[in-house]
Amino acid sequence: MGGAILIVEDELVTQRLIAASLERAGYQAIRAASVEQAEAAIREVLPDLMLLDWILPGTTGMSFLRHLRSERRTREIPVIMLTGRSDEIDKVAGLEAGADDYLTKPFSHRELLARIKAVVRRRAPLLGDEPVEFGDLKLDPAAHRITAASGKISLWATEFRLLHFLMTHPDRVYSRGQLLDEVWGDHVFVEDRTVDVHIRRLRQALQPSGHEKRIETVRGAGYCFRANPG
Ligand code: CA
Repeated sequence: MGGAILIVEDELVTQRLIAASLERAGYQAIRAASVEQAEAAIREVLPDLMLLDWILPGTTGMSFLRHLRSERRTREIPVIMLTGRSDEIDKVAGLEAGADDYLTKPFSHRELLARIKAVVRRRAPLLGDEPVEFGDLKLDPAAHRITAASGKISLWATEFRLLHFLMTHPDRVYSRGQLLDEVWGDHVFVEDRTVDVHIRRLRQALQPSGHEKRIETVRGAGYCFRANPG
């Protein structure tokens, strides 16, 4: 365990509770109450993971997240969004903005740690380091690099892992639940439609290369990566 976790939360009681929870579990908790404070903290040290509140003074966690994902230095930081009960409707938008997961407040110490572990595990290499390729689509896990004839393809960690899994298991149909097991590792708190969001994001990223056709939706069953798309 361990690692530095940045908490971006303007409700100071919640911020303190989370920090105490993380420190008890052996993490270093860095606290920020605004985007400005978070940016200052990130300039000093790149956190291993960020807990980001949905509503922040003068802005939203989501617009900050978009900014983080647009910058080379910060685009890989795993981010768990913290949302209130009433924000439920925007969860998909959060995932689309690049969140790895979300937690609805209030949450327990146990749930917080389980989510953090799941996100960290998801980003860890479990699928081997051997490069895999189909046509001009090449995925190199060791270099965390995907290329095609059209150029380099940039993916966030979850889509990278998803594509890696699919490319190493071609022409087999996987249900959303199976993909959650294989790619997310611990899907206890993740909804099935999360898979659809990430598949959509993956297809968008592959579109310029034409390889998005390989990812087939199998009605009523799930998804399949085609070695030879029709
Ligand atoms: Ca807030």
